[in-house]
Amino acid sequence: MAKPLEFETVEEEVEFWESHSTADYWDDMEKVEFEVDLRRNLLHPKLVFIADQPAQCPRCHHELEETVIQYVTLHDGRLVMIRDVPALRCRVNGHEYMLEKTLDQVEQVLNLEKTQKLRPAEILHVPVFRLGMAA
Ligand SMILES: [Zn+2]
Repeated sequence: MAKPLEFETVEEEVEFWESHSTADYWDDMEKVEFEVDLRRNLLHPKLVFIADQPAQCPRCHHELEETVIQYVTLHDGRLVMIRDVPALRCRVNGHEYMLEKTLDQVEQVLNLEKTQKLRPAEILHVPVFRLGMAA
């Protein structure tokens, strides 16, 4: 068994994993569960995050157009919207992509929002209904 991995900094850890395979450390790893949907865009649930701007749609190879979307997510149990977030949309099949650097910006806003260091640009009022109201 390899010695336990300890890193002083995130950079050190990133550097380590860029040159080592996690497969070699599989047995030493703890099983953890975490919520991967934490940053899910409720209006664009199939949004795919990509590192670099592709020349064409990675899935169907059609042309991509630049667009803006509203990023709506649940954050600490509250619904939060970030307006006019740049994204890429496949002209033919509507596949949607967002660059990881844009997601980083979204996370920055959400983190500042969490610590209440950002005042919202506006507050939306959302109508709420109950199913039985139609009866
Ligand atoms: Zn496509």
